[in-house]
Amino acid sequence: MEIFEDRQALATYLEKNVPEGASIGFVPTMGALHEGHLALVRKARAKSSLVVVSLFINRRQFNNPDDFEKYPRNVQADLSLLETVGPDVVFLPEEENLFRGVAFPVFDLGSLDDRLEGKFRPGHFRGVFEVLWVFFSLIRPRYVFMGQKDLQQCALVEKLLKQHFPFTTLRMVPTVRDKDGLALSSRNLRLTPEERKKAAGVSRALLSAANALPGMAWTQLRQDLLETIHQTGFSPEYVELIQYPDFSMEQRYKPGSLQAICLAYNTESVRLIDNAWVKSPLSAGLFS
Ligand code: AMP
Repeated sequence: MEIFEDRQALATYLEKNVPEGASIGFVPTMGALHEGHLALVRKARAKSSLVVVSLFINRRQFNNPDDFEKYPRNVQADLSLLETVGPDVVFLPEEENLFRGVAFPVFDLGSLDDRLEGKFRPGHFRGVFEVLWVFFSLIRPRYVFMGQKDLQQCALVEKLLKQHFPFTTLRMVPTVRDKDGLALSSRNLRLTPEERKKAAGVSRALLSAANALPGMAWTQLRQDLLETIHQTGFSPEYVELIQYPDFSMEQRYKPGSLQAICLAYNTESVRLIDNAWVKSPLSAGLFS
């Protein structure tokens, strides 16, 4: 496992060590790694000839400075975990080194920026776009592996790849959950045991709503989900039924489209998001 901190050193290494036709699989992360991240690296290992993982907490995508300050950091533990799944390269840049001299192209985030995560986290997707633009330009991956956990981010990446990196394909990996249903997230480290238990209950309610939707009215299910969140004492930001990848908001089940229920809420200490594909013939074939 080679470790690079310098952008230019990584570029030189890749130039020398990636033979013509070899496929680079890239897994961007912000560290505080868990099984969800490792699932991405394992998938990348299985599908590409050279695997690059980045560990970088991207200040630009934090709309809330307090969230950035409190984001868990543990590089040594991350490197030990990565040793168990065997990427070829770990990229650990400093902010200044990564962005020095970079000029971004025009990129229209479109309606992704005015709804759900885009609406509740102003500037978030612009920051995600900027860091990914630098990473993709530098690494030129054949595949980028990202989690369904951040579904709207996946939609953004599909858009970015289509416009600027047509050679690269997104491979989405299903959300990894704890046994009790809670989606793994680095931010879970900040939950109290009580909050963690309640958050798992919200995830279970979400999963059953996504299964039940084909036979039930969305307005009712949405109401029930909002109530579940309120009953835990958390404050919901949104609960929406969307169509992937344009994230148009839907009012009813459509068997011919790829739909997901997405939600976000705040606990006392942290903001959490989750989503689930609506059960349909289209979603059933997604990860097979
Ligand atoms: P982050 O470090 O939170 O920026 O996440 C890095 C990547 O890991 C993103 O593509 C996330 O969607 C993905 N990821 C985070 N949590 C999970 C999870 N529970 N299951 C699958 N992928 C995840």
